[in-house]
Amino acid sequence: MSGLKEKILRLIRAQGPLPLAQYMQMALLDPEHGYYMKRDPLGRDFVTAPEVSQMFGELIGLFFAQAWEDRGRPQRFHFVELGPGRGTLMADMLRAGGKVRPDFARAADVTLIEASPALRDVQARALAGRRVAWAAALGELAEDAPLFLVANEFFDALPVRQFVTTAGKGHEINWHERMVAERDGALVFALAPDPVPKALALQAMPAAPLGAVFEIQQSGPAIVSDIAVRIVSRGGAALVIDYGHAAGFGDTFQAVKAHAFADPLENPGEADLTVHVDFAALAEAAREEGAQVWGPAAQGEFLDVLGIRLRAERLKRAQPEQAVQIDADIDRLTNPAHMGTLFKVLAFAAPHTPPLPGFVC
Ligand code: SAH
Repeated sequence: MSGLKEKILRLIRAQGPLPLAQYMQMALLDPEHGYYMKRDPLGRDFVTAPEVSQMFGELIGLFFAQAWEDRGRPQRFHFVELGPGRGTLMADMLRAGGKVRPDFARAADVTLIEASPALRDVQARALAGRRVAWAAALGELAEDAPLFLVANEFFDALPVRQFVTTAGKGHEINWHERMVAERDGALVFALAPDPVPKALALQAMPAAPLGAVFEIQQSGPAIVSDIAVRIVSRGGAALVIDYGHAAGFGDTFQAVKAHAFADPLENPGEADLTVHVDFAALAEAAREEGAQVWGPAAQGEFLDVLGIRLRAERLKRAQPEQAVQIDADIDRLTNPAHMGTLFKVLAFAAPHTPPLPGFVC
């Protein structure tokens, strides 16, 4: 049995079942055994867009160089990435953005928000030769310059709470929080015995049929609010890319190990746990702080508008032997059958500022 499973079982025996969010947090980020804390899972368990092709990070770099230019070329700005993985996206963005606008790369004060010591090491290697700072959360960053921020596949890793409907008295519907409990030494899903108080449930959850599952990811909108407040007051732009739904209902909690779906309760700490991102909730959080919002748009469309096909033609001319691979990479990133529509892009900036590139208005 994994060390983490034992730790979780001990905790459940001592204090009862854990809310799903707490389980997810421990499975991913437990300082001793958390999935991200000791290893670099990228490539081994899953592959992200920047790891598929350098074109992805290069186009995002051009997006930010243009957004920076359109916002008056500030001489210094915070260039922040949330959950930078192997550091590939940041390296590709700085290289491509710096090629078209050298001042952009010089003005960038890079901070990587990363929880994992193992991944911080990988990021330091990817960005060797560049001054980079690390932080555990955005709150550590001074609000002394515009903020340009990107997050690719970060929000899907934030802990989620789930609520399930059951039949109450008469025709009443009750919402119960979904918990992780123990049965015969195994971890199993269970419902909290007491329903969520009526007033709270009515406020937070829409009307739903019996058995419906509703997810709330509290930290996602909270982080977006923090980013939006900074951008509205100091300027800048944010780009959030992830898999998710424009508006949603249902259970999207999943585990992935070695490129295949796995049982999310079987081996905590050994598989990646994620949920689909609720883009409507993130967009709402940004708007509430007064930001101007673009999207969510499909990743495929966004990359098309930014000119991925033109970029591919140029790359193919420079490396004809790679042509087949380059076409396969584009297909993977943009085709609706692969990452093209499940992955979505949301952007926001201060109000009354020029439109951000990549979105068809
Ligand atoms: N953006 C990268 C990696 C995605 S994997 C890419 O596209 O390849 C998720 C990343 O978020 C990892 O770097 C992981 O360690 C980090 N992460 C997850 N939860 C975090 C948290 N709460 N705080 C900081 N980093 C976190």
